[in-house]
Amino acid sequence: MNRSPQNQPATSVGTEHRVKDTHFRCCGRILITTVSQLRLNLLTGRWVTVVPSRAKRTSDFAPRTLHVENDPDRLCPFCPGHEDSGVPTLETRDSDGNWTMRVVPNKYPAFEGDDTLAVRNLGPVHVMAEASGVHEVLVISPDHDSRMNNFSDGAMKDMMLALKSRLIAHTDTPNIRYTQAFINHGREAGASLAHPHGQLLGLPFVPGEILEEERAFERFKGGCLLCTTIEAESVDNKRVVLENEHAIAICPFWSSGPFELLIMPRSHELHLSDSSDEALAGVGRAIRDGLAHLVAVLGDIAFNIVFHTAPAHHSGMYHWHIHLWPKLTTTAGFERGTGVMINLVPPEEAAAELRAVSATV
Ligand SMILES: [Zn+2]
Ligand SMILES: [Zn+2]
Ligand SMILES: [Zn+2]
Repeated sequence: MNRSPQNQPATSVGTEHRVKDTHFRCCGRILITTVSQLRLNLLTGRWVTVVPSRAKRTSDFAPRTLHVENDPDRLCPFCPGHEDSGVPTLETRDSDGNWTMRVVPNKYPAFEGDDTLAVRNLGPVHVMAEASGVHEVLVISPDHDSRMNNFSDGAMKDMMLALKSRLIAHTDTPNIRYTQAFINHGREAGASLAHPHGQLLGLPFVPGEILEEERAFERFKGGCLLCTTIEAESVDNKRVVLENEHAIAICPFWSSGPFELLIMPRSHELHLSDSSDEALAGVGRAIRDGLAHLVAVLGDIAFNIVFHTAPAHHSGMYHWHIHLWPKLTTTAGFERGTGVMINLVPPEEAAAELRAVSATV
């Protein structure tokens, strides 16, 4: 099937998809009888509205209904045996002669080329630049039907080390200023293929979300914002979901959506690639375990995992971390119009529910 790059969504990996929003049921009574809170996300400086509620249960959130269907005209490009021999392998992990993980260039890159960012004015209000950079796919497992919440410790370590290796390579690429690594699972969360995979987009600029977070770290006067968060949440213990020697996963105080997780390495490093292999293995286990808890409570949900790391060559204040956003709700007019999110599940309740289940891997 011929598909031109122009037809691809910005972060698609080779097939068109249409995201249909899911909705969760919420009781109207809740909205008129509770007092909401504004909570300041110190990372972004944005307000989040948290609606306290004891009336909702996790059963109010339906497991995902839109499964990624295999295209009958097209074999899964990530399954063993379907590798494109014309495409270079950028990174690979093997076991007994078979690959267990590989990174390859995206066939339909959203960012491509070696040019540094050249901003051009085409008119009084028309400013443009070429989308140079790189777009890579991380095939996380050879098993099409595997799920990250069941991955082994070794598989999670391999994934984190592959990310580290690619991020180092991107840092050495002159025109890349920031690399966004992420994993989408489920059509509702933007995944176009069911096979477990992530993506790395090396950009010729630092995106606004990261600039805002950098400013937040500078603004915070109590040392490192996330080192202090780890300390404060450990003492408070209301929002901690799980922890291990190297990482901690919490439902942040300012969670913008139900069951949002923030996963932080304990050691203070600006870049993911600055972390030791052992620390990365621990963070990988925390991601997997966080997902296992989410699946145990909510079922096979769609989700986005986003790796936030300091921009290449950045030397100011930052502490790399991971956002895990279950795709349970949709952003509608109010949220789109104001940037103020409304979260119907207080993070303290979400964390308590997640902690209460045993997540077996
Ligand atoms: Zn596959
Ligand atoms: Zn720190
Ligand atoms: Zn972040």
